[in-house]
Amino acid sequence: MAVLPCFLCGKELDQRMAKSGKPYFVCDPCGTQFFVRRKQGIEKLAYLFRTIREHNLVLRHHGQRLFEISATLNELSEVGREFEKLDDSISIFSKSKREKQRALTILKKHMQKLLNDLEKLTR
Ligand SMILES: [Zn+2]
Repeated sequence: MAVLPCFLCGKELDQRMAKSGKPYFVCDPCGTQFFVRRKQGIEKLAYLFRTIREHNLVLRHHGQRLFEISATLNELSEVGREFEKLDDSISIFSKSKREKQRALTILKKHMQKLLNDLEKLTR
């Protein structure tokens, strides 16, 4: 289920869809509304929910925590891009196998650390 906590009271808010097909969230008790109108936001939201689902994480936390989770996810997707770049650079410059291995190990460690952070944040 696609839910986000209200940043004021922490209530779980179901994702709603505007007629335009854009996601938004409403907290009735607080009267807060959160709209995601642009492509980047919609993609980031989809990525957030996908990651939460893939790792069976539960969001039950207030805004600050959610902000940290979101920042961690952004970093994770950066690392993902680094992986891709590494792949490209390997084919173009044919780095030595050892160099490639070292870079992969660093990226994997970084990614594992971020996933651990994410797990702690959503515990
Ligand atoms: Zn609220």
